[in-house]
Amino acid sequence: MTDAAGDFDAVVIGAGFSGLYMLKSLRDSLGLKVRVFEAGDSVGGTWYWNRYPGARCDSDAYIYCFTWDKQLLQDWQWSERYPGQAEILRYLEHVAQRHDLKRDIAFGTRVTSGAFDEQRNLWVVHTDKGDEVTARFLIAAVGTLSATNMPQFEGLERFKGRWYHTSRFPHAGVDFTGKRVGVVGTGATAVQAIPEIAQQAKQLTVFQRTANYCVPARNGKVDPEVTAARKADYDGIVRRIRESPFGQEHYFIEKSVLETTPEEREREFDRMWDAGGFGFWIANYQDMFFDQQANDICADYLKRKIRSTVKDPAVAERLIPKGYAYGTKRQPLDTNYFETFNKDSVLLVDAATDGAIEAITETGIRAGGKEYTLDIIVFATGFDAMTGPLTALNLQGRGGCTLTEEWEHGPRTYLGVAMAGFPNLFTITGPQSPSVLSNMPVSIEQHVEWITDCIDTMRREGRTTIEATPQAQDEWVAHVAEAAAGTLMTGTNSWYMGANIPGKPRVFLPYLGEAGVGGYRRKCDEVAADGYAGFALT
Ligand code: FAD
Ligand code: NAP
Repeated sequence: MTDAAGDFDAVVIGAGFSGLYMLKSLRDSLGLKVRVFEAGDSVGGTWYWNRYPGARCDSDAYIYCFTWDKQLLQDWQWSERYPGQAEILRYLEHVAQRHDLKRDIAFGTRVTSGAFDEQRNLWVVHTDKGDEVTARFLIAAVGTLSATNMPQFEGLERFKGRWYHTSRFPHAGVDFTGKRVGVVGTGATAVQAIPEIAQQAKQLTVFQRTANYCVPARNGKVDPEVTAARKADYDGIVRRIRESPFGQEHYFIEKSVLETTPEEREREFDRMWDAGGFGFWIANYQDMFFDQQANDICADYLKRKIRSTVKDPAVAERLIPKGYAYGTKRQPLDTNYFETFNKDSVLLVDAATDGAIEAITETGIRAGGKEYTLDIIVFATGFDAMTGPLTALNLQGRGGCTLTEEWEHGPRTYLGVAMAGFPNLFTITGPQSPSVLSNMPVSIEQHVEWITDCIDTMRREGRTTIEATPQAQDEWVAHVAEAAAGTLMTGTNSWYMGANIPGKPRVFLPYLGEAGVGGYRRKCDEVAADGYAGFALT
């Protein structure tokens, strides 16, 4: 399609859900010449890398999948409500094979930089394998949770045992049998891993910095009749999740919890608790996200559950979250998480009461002046979320401006999909889009389809570049901040706020305006229908 032809029409970075569908769309729907670079040795992204014990999705599987392959929606059988990492990886491998995607993917190849050549209107992309390729369009499908956060603990190099980060877990697995194991972190990853590791380890010590609210996953086989009904209604399901606030069939209770009687809300809480899954979080009383008093009522229910589950009242007290509003950190779903602390072989080391981690020693971890002897340390310390994988690309736009400099005080995008000064660059589920606040495949598909339509329109209209205008970007950045400011989300030290990474600007990273995924989709479609309002095209 190009005049000053590059080596490729488009380069896509990443081969998870996003990169696979982007490749499929550009290559098979538009007939473009596409090259995908993927740092991993195969497809899968999140599900290629995160192989820790207990790793599984927590979106219901019937919607945690691609919806663009209608036949596959009918044919694929998930084994349980939330399949494990290996099964999801098998699914993505199957998609890649079924659509012959691997032939256009360079695996084991990390993109190390990209620069926009203003003379040729091409992106020049470099990789760690020494490639230099040019392309008209550059699409970052690098994921939001793919840049590992490995805190710089003093003395790690001295540790004589073995250590792992959950997001770079060995493919062969780790045998914890008979070992003294330390897990650092109590986020969604640790909440899944801790009960599994505790079943094997001789002694498990959990290092908690911030206690987390958990809701039961209630994983298990799905009733075949439910599955059959869903398969018969997939068109309806897809329409509903695309229009929904969070890309799921969950909707807030509009009524204020403050207007309910204790009996009435207890019944609702019990119903959501018994159902398991995200309902307690995103189908709860909506004022929980805006009003501290409403939030306290919902949080109190979860605190009571911790007290009734954990036998030692002192341990229960330390596992009870304090100092931040419920739901303002990403909700982990658990299977026997709190129960695990009833085991004699499991010890909780809480930063607030026992002392924070001071150093890694030759033989374990020192926290609060006390040494904990360990054979294996598992760091479940999360990610430099949303911006980390993008700034790591070392991108240079017009006039040599870099993304790192442009984002010094936080990300600046238009619609979370494009950036002023970076023509023909698109991000999938980038910061300032609903992204991580949704069931991700829904947001991924929306961005891939919007980008594909945009490139198709440019091709039909003979356009060379598209670029967000600084004004549209400024307005979007302000709008994203305003949408978050009305909620309790900004008061919490979460990775949504960049607070888990020392020195990272404190701004709310995803977009929660327009009543979520559905409203945001309409906004993006209006922009396109309006001749890409807010973009400059040449
Ligand atoms: P990823 O799957 O992260 O893929 C990005 C790929 O880009 C990676 O393979 C990476 O190697 C590659 N890459 C990055 N930088 C470069 C580079 N410079 N050069 C080359 N390659 C690069 N979301 C949900 O909605 N529901 C869930 O239940 C859920 N569970 C999750 C569980 C875990 C443990 C984690 C970590 C995340 C989970 N998520 C979940 C979020 C999940 O990341 C998304 O659902 C989805 O898998 C993202 O797909 P992606 O292709 O956008 O990104
Ligand atoms: P996370 O939520 O960021 O949790 C990291 C944990 O490590 C937190 O408890 C954090 O404490 C702790 N930590 C970080 N740095 C530390 C330090 N220097 N010292 C001590 N403790 C430290 O990361 P995650 O658990 O990997 O989850 C990330 C996201 O991935 C989730 O929120 C979710 O979106 C996704 N995920 C989903 C699932 C699923 O069920 N499908 C499973 C895993 C992950 P603080 O809280 O104090 O920062």
